[in-house]
Amino acid sequence: MEIVLATRNKKKEEEIKRITDGMKISIFTIDDFPGCPDIKEDGKTFEENAVKKAVTVSRHTGKPALADDSGLEVYALKGAPGTLSARYAGEDADDSRNLGKLLYEMRSIVGRDRGARFVCCIALAFPDGSINTFYGYSEGRIGREPKGFKGFGYDPLFYPEGSKKTFAEMSDNEKDSLSHRGKAMREVQRYLKEKINFSAT
Ligand code: IMP
Repeated sequence: MEIVLATRNKKKEEEIKRITDGMKISIFTIDDFPGCPDIKEDGKTFEENAVKKAVTVSRHTGKPALADDSGLEVYALKGAPGTLSARYAGEDADDSRNLGKLLYEMRSIVGRDRGARFVCCIALAFPDGSINTFYGYSEGRIGREPKGFKGFGYDPLFYPEGSKKTFAEMSDNEKDSLSHRGKAMREVQRYLKEKINFSAT
């Protein structure tokens, strides 16, 4: 089976490739299909954005396409930054400015009130128009200063539940076993395994 990953984020691409390793799937990226339209992530929900990306890429390539939309929801900030996670500190923000803004917004929030979760919605769109969505969540809390250098985005501030290490201090395998994307991808894996076995019989 062939799947096109609808992302230009190299770190996400690496994570998804790592998780699908060993399955009978050939992974392509949108860079393999020149002219793929850029997709504006203007949906109100993770699902809206993931579906929009997967459907656009599947239509353009004529192949099944997988898109993820993900972000951080801080309970004390009423779910912010949410779907705006990548652009929290502005349209041209980078990871370090987003981390800075989050720490600033949470400067007076202490202890248990620093709870947050990562959310990942993965959409798989097929050329026949069918769409499947899969969710993964990772509950945790936001630290007071960045720790660790691995991963991307808010990883240096996020302590998954029960962990004394941030995602940015974990090995790839550790993060995959706990992360929202890892959990959603394992749902995709289960679905694809059934689909591949079914089509082979
Ligand atoms: P998008 O899904 O490409 O719209 O971007 C989601 C944004 O959420 C990223 O740019 C990060 O800021 C944040 N994010 C999503 N997943 C992770 C993760 O696994 N670690 C850290 N930050 C993440």
